[in-house]
Amino acid sequence: MTPELETLLTALHDEKIIVLLAPSFPVDFVYPDIVLNLKMLGIEKVVELTYAAKLINMEYEKILKENPDKRYICPNCPAIVKIVEIKYPELKENIINVSSPMVVMNRFVKKEYGEDYKTLFIGPCFAKKMEAKQYGIDYAITFKELQDIFDYIKENNISPKEFTYSVTEDDIPDFDDVYNNYTKIYPLAWGVAESLHIKGIINKDEILVVDGPKNLDAGFQAFKNNKKIRFLDILACEWWCIGGPGIMSKDPLDVRKQKILAYQEHCKTHKDWSKLGQVKDSEGLDIGRK
Ligand code: SF4
Repeated sequence: MTPELETLLTALHDEKIIVLLAPSFPVDFVYPDIVLNLKMLGIEKVVELTYAAKLINMEYEKILKENPDKRYICPNCPAIVKIVEIKYPELKENIINVSSPMVVMNRFVKKEYGEDYKTLFIGPCFAKKMEAKQYGIDYAITFKELQDIFDYIKENNISPKEFTYSVTEDDIPDFDDVYNNYTKIYPLAWGVAESLHIKGIINKDEILVVDGPKNLDAGFQAFKNNKKIRFLDILACEWWCIGGPGIMSKDPLDVRKQKILAYQEHCKTHKDWSKLGQVKDSEGLDIGRK
């Protein structure tokens, strides 16, 4: 166990924690078991980021509609924001003034459930640890590190009874409260663009989607040179977030992709979930970058 994970393990006992689970989780974990396993660690609430992604999409749509002459870079990948700051500072003003799903969801749950909760982001990404520190997310670990915690507890025979949660067979826990379906494709190529309602706002050929270290420079150059491109969705990892360095899976791309899509399809069967995650629930929430 790293000192970071040891600190987190202590926090799991001592603090009220809400997990912010990245939408690429089905690549490495089975739903709904993952929610149960997290609650058995003593975590009080587990939410997805998809509701925040919906709010973000709506803000993108508004900005793109109100500013037809402006051109934007999507800031959801913190590694990309860093690269722009260091290598392409002339593009800094193109970074759209909307926070990432992790940051927006963090603000939402702290407003909804109270500042006394600590938040723990779990995702495929090491760069998110840096963004988490910058934007007040209390802890951030990767899927690999979560598995390390599960393994440590198993290997050391730490009984779930020592933690706070207990379940019965007909009380299998699910995500808490907020839910939105169509943004579950966010970690895939075109996930942001395809979950936007772009009709009448921006044409598909005005969007450029780029992934992977080998393609980043060409992507930025294309954005600089081709003024027709109005929205650049660029991610540092090959295969987008489902290829992030904190992912454990060795599955090929199409298998990982299928896992995300299968989870999305499964969630469509929960009719009552579509009533959750209404926009009015987040009235007054600041989703801008600070
Ligand atoms: S593309 Fe990679 S670095 Fe960027 S947010 Fe996704 S996992 Fe993190």
